[in-house]
Amino acid sequence: KKITIAIDGFSSTGKSTLAKSLAKQLGYVYIDSGAMYRAVTLFAMRKKMIDKECFKKEDLINSLEQIELNFQYNAAKGFAEIYLNQENVEEVIRTLEVSKFVSQVAEVPEVRRKLVEQQQNFGKLKGVIMDGRDIGTVVFPDAELKIFMTASPEIRAERRFKELKEKNASVDYDEVFRNVIERDQIDTSRKDSPLIKAEDAIEIDNSDLSRVEQFDLIMKLVTE
Ligand code: C5P
Repeated sequence: KKITIAIDGFSSTGKSTLAKSLAKQLGYVYIDSGAMYRAVTLFAMRKKMIDKECFKKEDLINSLEQIELNFQYNAAKGFAEIYLNQENVEEVIRTLEVSKFVSQVAEVPEVRRKLVEQQQNFGKLKGVIMDGRDIGTVVFPDAELKIFMTASPEIRAERRFKELKEKNASVDYDEVFRNVIERDQIDTSRKDSPLIKAEDAIEIDNSDLSRVEQFDLIMKLVTE
């Protein structure tokens, strides 16, 4: 029987890597909810609605109808990539620039309402794995399996830093570290759907766990 799996947790805890490999193994659909918040942020940045100086929240709220998000399965990569108004933005949403503004965009209740509705529609298929911050608490409160991932901020920043380096981005560790801390801070303290562990979620601190160990641990929970 196919179930719904919700994976929540702090930034750069390796949620998406884990979710992707689980989806592959189980034949499930993987949806990266963070990619949706990132795509809305990219839209706002391109329209000059957000930058270091200002955030024109009302303008963004008024143009939400112009934002269409889709996922399309990429067989070569083995997961679904995100499209913003028919453009594949899977790569461009991963820059540190987007990371710097995304948590402010994700604080806006109107943005959340729109994205949560779409996420819940995806969930109507059984056999969905979604990762994010509010999946077990808000998007799929009835998910059969809920995981809450944590790891020390230093380890998370180190992982994100390596990832960005592999893509040849010019970043420094301290900047990445500050961004991880700052996003955690905004995500846990926002009024609307703050990042918290669902009561019935299983917490996994993966600071000292390899990818294979995490995968095996959760596969055991799925098949139990
Ligand atoms: O998962 P990822 O780090 O790509 O998410 C980017 C940001 O999007 C998070 O820091 C958070 O501010 C926001 N987010 C959210 N709710 C989700 C997924 C992501 O608020 N379900």
